[in-house]
Amino acid sequence: MTADAPVLAILGGGQLGRMLGFAAREMGYRIVALDPDPDAPITAVADRLEEGAYDDIAAARRMAEGAAIVTYELEHVGQQVITALEDRKRPIRPGPYPLKLTADRVAERRFVEANEGRVAEWREVAGPSEMFEAIAELGYPLRLKAVRGGYDGRSQERLRSHADLEGIDPRIGWPALIERELDFECELSVVVARNVDGISRTFPVARNTHDNGILSESVVPAGVPAAVQEEAATLAKNLATSMGLVGTLTVELFLMRDGSLVVNELAPRVHNSGHWSIEGAVTSQFEQHIRAICGLPLGSVEMRAPAVAMVNLLGEGAPRPARPTGIYNALELPDTHLHIYDKHNVFERRKMGHVTALGSTPEEALARAREAAAHIVWAPAPEA
Ligand code: ADP
Ligand code: MG
Repeated sequence: MTADAPVLAILGGGQLGRMLGFAAREMGYRIVALDPDPDAPITAVADRLEEGAYDDIAAARRMAEGAAIVTYELEHVGQQVITALEDRKRPIRPGPYPLKLTADRVAERRFVEANEGRVAEWREVAGPSEMFEAIAELGYPLRLKAVRGGYDGRSQERLRSHADLEGIDPRIGWPALIERELDFECELSVVVARNVDGISRTFPVARNTHDNGILSESVVPAGVPAAVQEEAATLAKNLATSMGLVGTLTVELFLMRDGSLVVNELAPRVHNSGHWSIEGAVTSQFEQHIRAICGLPLGSVEMRAPAVAMVNLLGEGAPRPARPTGIYNALELPDTHLHIYDKHNVFERRKMGHVTALGSTPEEALARAREAAAHIVWAPAPEA
């Protein structure tokens, strides 16, 4: 590598940062990252990791020193950090505005509605008394969500009746968002990439299954009518354009029983439901993001197989050092690929890795990916 290879700075060092890093590295970029964990998954691929919280301005400044472009792998980066890093000569992509918008569930919903997208009927509530008013207006079942900071189903509660109000997690805090719980047909997502010239391209829509708010499986094709795919793609492109985003945007959707689409959440970044694209598409979501933020042409989003499925490897059991077993058996299955994020410790429901399988039908791909994932077991803690 030449001495002056361009440097990309990534805010956040989890598995998304790691996989962005792999893609960027292949294309000749160097990586620096900010993360509070010195053993974060991105260390495999970062030339330098600046240890610091996502709101540590001084650490973020040190990290970005000498970088050509700044990007982020999570929405929960402090706004002050972004302000501190803003510099005309060093763009922040997908951009400060998409981050600000999607870090706030209320702002996000207003934005979607202003751009002709539908969301579940919602109210912003300042405190308990307003909550009772909103409950009376919307009716159970409901979801109470933190305005800021939630992910993987954390910071939200299902409310089915007044009885559930007793156990509300105080970490949700006020103001909060309350919205109708929808009885959808299935969950879908679409990743769109938009480059510096304003050209955008969407990946095929994925059908997603969640387990208690955390993604467990994605399958492509989603098995929905072409009109639904088109509507999802158009919506994603419009939202990306409207927020002036350069990079990738993921739109999480509910497909309703009448065939209409409701937006659940936006993420101005690559997404767990797009991991299938590493082996399943000509260009992965990670490479596409790097291409977009670096001012390069977008790659083809054609699928490499008739069907692809991704199954997450979630941690189980007591916290302990992470040692995966069963890899040999998993990889004996045809067209199956393993990704382990090298997190040093495993705990209940932690995202530890994923499995991708290709197949001739969605059912075949999913069966393979599930079978492979079932082989991967985290070894018990060594005897003291
Ligand atoms: P997170 O930031 O944790 O991903 P989401 O708002 O996307 O939060 O919620 C996680 C999951 O919870 C969704 O993917 C969906 O399965 C379920 N969920 C969230 N909101 C609703 C809702 N209004 N109606 C039905 N299910 C919901
Ligand atoms: Mg979500």
